[in-house]
Amino acid sequence: MILDKRLLRLLMSERGYLPGIGALSLVSAVFVVGQARLLSSLLDAVFLEGADLARVLPLLSGLLLIGLGRALASGGMEILAGWMAVGIKEKLRLWLVKGIFSAGPAPFQRENSGEISNTITNGIESLDAYYSQYLPQLAVAALIPLAILISVFPLDWLSGVVFLLTAPLIPFFMVLIGKGSEAVTRRQWQSLSRMSAFFLDTLQGLRELKQWNRSLDHAERLARVTDEYRSTTMNVLRITFISALVLELVATISTAVVAVQIGLRLLYGMMNFEQAFLILLLAPEFYQPMRLLGQRFHAGMSGITAAGRIFKLPMLQSEEHEKRGGSPLLFKAGDVIRFENVTFRYPDREEQALKGIDFEWKFGETVALVGSSGSGKTTIARLVMGFIQPNEGVVRISQHSLTEIDLEVWRSQIAWVGQRPYIMNASLLENLRLAKPQCSSGEIQQALRLANLEEVVARLPQGLETPIGEAGAKLSSGELQRVSLARAFLRDAPIVVLDEPTAHLDAGLEEMLESSLERLCRNKTVMIIAHRLPTVMRADQILVLRNGQIVERGRHWELLNKQGFYAQLVLGYRG
Ligand code: ADP
Ligand code: MG
Repeated sequence: MILDKRLLRLLMSERGYLPGIGALSLVSAVFVVGQARLLSSLLDAVFLEGADLARVLPLLSGLLLIGLGRALASGGMEILAGWMAVGIKEKLRLWLVKGIFSAGPAPFQRENSGEISNTITNGIESLDAYYSQYLPQLAVAALIPLAILISVFPLDWLSGVVFLLTAPLIPFFMVLIGKGSEAVTRRQWQSLSRMSAFFLDTLQGLRELKQWNRSLDHAERLARVTDEYRSTTMNVLRITFISALVLELVATISTAVVAVQIGLRLLYGMMNFEQAFLILLLAPEFYQPMRLLGQRFHAGMSGITAAGRIFKLPMLQSEEHEKRGGSPLLFKAGDVIRFENVTFRYPDREEQALKGIDFEWKFGETVALVGSSGSGKTTIARLVMGFIQPNEGVVRISQHSLTEIDLEVWRSQIAWVGQRPYIMNASLLENLRLAKPQCSSGEIQQALRLANLEEVVARLPQGLETPIGEAGAKLSSGELQRVSLARAFLRDAPIVVLDEPTAHLDAGLEEMLESSLERLCRNKTVMIIAHRLPTVMRADQILVLRNGQIVERGRHWELLNKQGFYAQLVLGYRG
């Protein structure tokens, strides 16, 4: 029961622990029976045969040893199961991180990051109970009752039959209650995820919330979300307590049935004391592991629910995975990047973002993409970097399709500067090093100078070591953009992709960045997405996009003379 296939596959990745856990539960089972046997013959000897201490000393020391052995076996099993769970969680985390990197950013743009981070942190943690408690208990709950049945049947078949008939009651009730708990646990998980997502949203949107005066509203919604979580948690607890009560009751009644039938037969002299006492001692031991299984079932349940979500994470959906490996390709003189009739549609959109895109972009050339917002410019840049693959047509680098080459090597040859660079919550230096981890301080200084960042660093309280806050909260957007440029200089890649690098900067800042941009593009193969920049005007070819199609192409003056869409766009922006 609830042996999820995917969870079992994960278990197999740490199967080294399984023989140990199996062996220890077998040893526990033998010890349980042995302990009861020793205890019953000890009492029989002392009470009925009047044996003295010397005669029962071996029995007493045996009892002590077995007690010790039982404790060691169950302790050892917990340690092994704990190690196993830690190993599995570690594997799963590693697997997820690899998945994140190989899936690239595309699948995540459709997801809620608060919910994903909840799944990766809390979700994986809740698998712990499944592996370290529920699964080992499953082995114990199968082996101990079996060992007891085997030893009771030859002694007294009637008690054996009572055990056999009452045994299925506990699993039966467990399944019955488990059915209800599944839905409730899922609801609890969902509301926990909603709560995490909501908190992250609140933190990230704090400025907007204050600005639009929505704090009170938002606090009310927050109260609702937390209250929902409280009530679903109470529902889960209610089911857990009810199930504990029912299982306890079933176990107690069954033990009582065994006790009464033994007592009656003992009274009428149909059974001897030692036998009867042994069975009476074994009866609670028989139901105990199954009862405990019922309790741990609920802890395991939340792991299963979380697993359902974990395995649906976008990075584990194999179709979205990048093909790994492929031949490494170095972009060199004479090479050409070619879009051949490329069509692309985002999975959650009806309309195609790009239709029949065809162009050639030679080594050393500058190609500019121009078009109104939403026309597909960024999508073309994503295709060049291999974050998404065309639905139809191919992107080629000389004769190789981009799907055949090693994307990691390919991307290492591209420096990308976007509209909003991502800045990590670390020092400026660490943020720069992202572009080139092993760079010398000389290289850093040069990049700072080229990106006009020197004076900014001079003003920062701790210079390069200054933490610049999550998403670069402590720098202005012009300064952030210069950080992004400095990264591109550090990278010193042959291909430069600029996706509206100055779009949200004012004219003054734009002018200041222009010289840096120009230096960055010198002697490089450049794709620039922008309107007004001189680099666009000097570009070897300008592609004008409209609704995902190239509607005009040529050089700046040719296009202006045409007085078509380009002229309209450029003049419009200027006027
Ligand atoms: P541009 O960069 O020219 O402003 P984009 O290439 O970003 O345009 O977008 C082209 C079209 O694709 C738009 O209609 C946009 O809404 C859509 N789009 C862009 N990114 C995504 C995404 N991650 N998921 C779904 N649709 C997207
Ligand atoms: Mg864009």
